[in-house]
Order: sequence, then C-alpha cells, then structure tokens
Amino acid sequence: MITKHLINSIYRATEGEGVFLGRAQIFVRYQGCAIGCLNCDSKDTWDFSEDMGQSLEMVMEAVHKEGFNGAIKNVSITGGDPLHPSHVPHVRALVKLLKEKKYYVNIEAAGTRVVDEIFDLVDYVSFDFKTPSTGVRTPLKNIAKMIAQYPGKFQVKAVISDRADFVTTLEAFKMLRADEDSMPFPWVLTPCFNNHEEFPLERFSQVLTWNEEAGGFFRVIGQQHKWIFGPDQKQV
Ligand code: SF4
Repeated sequence: MITKHLINSIYRATEGEGVFLGRAQIFVRYQGCAIGCLNCDSKDTWDFSEDMGQSLEMVMEAVHKEGFNGAIKNVSITGGDPLHPSHVPHVRALVKLLKEKKYYVNIEAAGTRVVDEIFDLVDYVSFDFKTPSTGVRTPLKNIAKMIAQYPGKFQVKAVISDRADFVTTLEAFKMLRADEDSMPFPWVLTPCFNNHEEFPLERFSQVLTWNEEAGGFFRVIGQQHKWIFGPDQKQV
C-alpha cells in the first residue's frame, strides 16, 4: 500500500489544452500510471516511484507557494493516472483540503474509470475518450454515466492521430447524443502532437476539415503549450 502522495511535480503554468485553454493554474502531477497509452507524452510518470512520496502538508505548501502564496486559485490534478486506486485516498484528501481553502479543482481522468468519491468533490472533470491510436479503450458506458451523474461539470477530450481516430470518435458521439443535434457537454478534439516532432500542421488542418465536413460537432483545440515551448518541454 502506498502511504504518501506520489508526486512527479507541482508547478504553475497556463493551461495548454481543452476548455480551460489559457487559464493560469497550478498543476499537481501524480507519479504512477498503469494504463499504457501508446502515444503517451508523459512516460516519465508511469513508475510508481515510492521515493517521490510527499505528505499532504508538503503538497499544499507547494500549491500555495507556486500560486504566488494563494493568489492563483485554480488547480488541475493530473498525472500519470491520479485515479489509479493507489492514488485515490490521497487525491481525495487533497481535494477535500483544496476545497476547504476555496480552490477551483479540475481533475484529468483517463476515461477508464468513473471514480465517484473523487468526482463528487471536484469542480470539474476532464475525461478522456481514448481513440484507437492510444491502444486503450474508453467504454461508452463511462461517458453515459458522466452525462447522467455530472451534467455541466465535465468535458471529454479525444486525441486524434489519424482518420480512424476521428471516425471512431464521431461514431461514439452519435451513439451518445440525446437527439440529432446536441451533445450536453463540450467534446474536444486534440490533434496529436508527438514528442520529438515538428508542429504537425497537416494533421491539424485535416482534423479541422474532418470536423467541419461531419457537421462541426466538436471543438478542435490544439496543445498551445507545445507550440510555444516545443513538444518535449515539461512543466509548461
Ligand atoms: S493515461 Fe495519461 S499518463 Fe497514463 S499512459 Fe495514458 S496518456 Fe500516459
């Protein structure tokens, strides 16, 4: 059993993707993920390295300090997989304390689990829909559960590497929407920007075109931090 918060890093940066793009926040990145996405850009977070353990007090102090002594009140909990069962009791304790201190808390969820004991406490959930290029699957029943239980407090994000990713995402969208036109939450397509790669202009423009041709149901939002700092830069 892991007795501490396994922390890869705690840092201040401007959100580079999804519906909070451009918002300054503190990232609490947990160390440890067993999901194994093929195109993961954070493989350094996979090991459950117990020597990266921190106490709750240490984590809170770092959040406070990185946010200019509490001036920045937005926190994003990410990973790794912060919803791995070994992290959940620690993440739950952290979220409870952050909420007591009036922080707005987003959690990045891999899409493989709906963890009510955490989702009930946070302000927002950024929930992945894993596309075929990741080699991982998000059961549609997970997104259906999010629609039923957490209306208005989640987005879905899908990384798009190629046409098959887009088609699979569009099919999922059509199966989940309540009527012909609507989807009751923001669904974001993130054109893939791999490590060690030049800015993928062609892929990006293809995703824009596919979305337009299909009816424009999605929001295409790139990874701004990678354009600015390069795809391999950490803590940005
Ligand atoms: S869930 Fe996130 S950290 Fe884990 S393998 Fe997938 S992309 Fe990487």
